[in-house]
Amino acid sequence: MLSSFYDPLLDSNPGTGRPYPVSYWAQGVNPWSAPALSGEQQTEVAIIGGGYTGLSCAWHLASQHDIQPTVLEANQIGWGCSGRNGGFVLNGTGRLSFAQIENKWGEQTAQAVYAEYRQAIDTVSELIDIGDIPCAPEYGGYLKIAHNRQSVELLKQQAILMQRKFGDPLRFLSAQALEKNYLHSPQAHGALHYPYCFGLHPLKLAQGYANMAHQAGAKIYPQSPVIKIQPEGSKIRLLTPSGSLVADKLVIASNGYTPNQFHSAVDKRHFPVLSSIIVTAPLSDAQRQACGLKSGLMAMDTRTLKYYYRLLPDNRILFGGRGAIRGKDANHPVYKKRLLDALVQTLPALNGIQAEYFWSGWVSVSLDDYPRICQADDKGQVFYAMGYCGSGVSFASQAGKRLAQRVAGDLNLPTLPFMQSPLPQFPMAQFRRLGLWAFYHLGRFRDGLL
Ligand SMILES: Cc1cc2nc3c(=O)[nH]c(=O)nc-3n(C[C@H](O)[C@H](O)[C@H](O)COP(=O)(O)OP(=O)(O)OC[C@H]3O[C@@H](n4cnc5c(N)ncnc54)[C@H](O)[C@@H]3O)c2cc1C
Repeated sequence: MLSSFYDPLLDSNPGTGRPYPVSYWAQGVNPWSAPALSGEQQTEVAIIGGGYTGLSCAWHLASQHDIQPTVLEANQIGWGCSGRNGGFVLNGTGRLSFAQIENKWGEQTAQAVYAEYRQAIDTVSELIDIGDIPCAPEYGGYLKIAHNRQSVELLKQQAILMQRKFGDPLRFLSAQALEKNYLHSPQAHGALHYPYCFGLHPLKLAQGYANMAHQAGAKIYPQSPVIKIQPEGSKIRLLTPSGSLVADKLVIASNGYTPNQFHSAVDKRHFPVLSSIIVTAPLSDAQRQACGLKSGLMAMDTRTLKYYYRLLPDNRILFGGRGAIRGKDANHPVYKKRLLDALVQTLPALNGIQAEYFWSGWVSVSLDDYPRICQADDKGQVFYAMGYCGSGVSFASQAGKRLAQRVAGDLNLPTLPFMQSPLPQFPMAQFRRLGLWAFYHLGRFRDGLL
């Protein structure tokens, strides 16, 4: 039996045709409408997962490589992270800083990774333009805010590295500049401002990608969970409750929602972790003034267990951070209250404000803190992209493009660490949740001390 809140480590699949969660983004948005897969169908490329990765891959295959793929989504288009995230289009993915990337692979690779991250943002902008996607982009830039004095120096060093090495146009802002122009917060001691990052409506972006892929010739079937993957001669058969699909090639784009025992290419190679969001009631003019909030403010702090927040176009605050450890606890009010308390500590003028929405989603964390866009076998039949560690609006869109190139045999790919090895397996994978529990305790301790 499936749990009411899907848990990838416990449930065999994400369900069939489940509705969108009751989120701020899903209000007033109809599901992308199409029938489920039925009967037996054939395809050159089957893609599992109707989020940014799968849909971007489908559009790029159909429009750039003359391959009409078939997308199978268990529930609704954008039902996973792609319809639940904060809508921050950021410069990066994974959890490695540029300094760590440079230490690990050298300066040339760090330059190539930087270029790929910037291109990922451009990919989102291009797709929005090409598809005329009504996802309300807000171009105010993004702030990485030092939540305490000790973090200020780290941000300054980061700014120097980014400007000198990559020519990045980011700027360091002092506490006074933040207070004057962005927000009044006792937890804002300085910040980096990234002018090229932007915010958007994530679910509308996902549905826009689906429209584009469909118009370009891809077949898209929501309400079609893959419950079994089996080899069939030189092909692969995917079984869903209402049909089956025989494919030459397979792309696994189910990311944090991938069931535990799904395919040997991905099993035990990532860790699904819950991230949660609250959205407040609209702020009154007095509340907004008291917080000094600039329109379109989009920020994340420097904690180990980070909080991120946005002022939405209708004057609500979206505030997110870590969630529960197990799926069955995801909707417990204690996690909503924790986020609300953290919001009030960040913006004390909002004391007493109510959270009107609260929801969670599974992000995919890799063992070594960076994702992969991978060909999983020697034959070139199975591909996947996952492990974005909670930062994937831009990267998933780019990963879909890169996956399409790999599937189509286009060798014109940059040499990047993401593409040169498979995701490593977690040792003692059954203890991943115990490890997360310990990490959260350590993180709270560190964030309390520093
Ligand atoms: C609360 C939250 C906030 C976030 N905020 C941000 C942010 O502001 N900025 C940012 O860059 N990133 C953010 N992220 C991360 C970002 O949303 C993801 O990295 C990105 O959306 C991943 O897209 P995807 O297509 O790879 O996976 P998903 O969008 O998760 O799609 C995977 C899909 O696969 C389907 N699926 C799984 N198993 C099967 C099966 N057996 N058969 C068929 N279908 C299946 C699922 O139903 C799901 O729809 C956030 C994530 C969460 C949860």
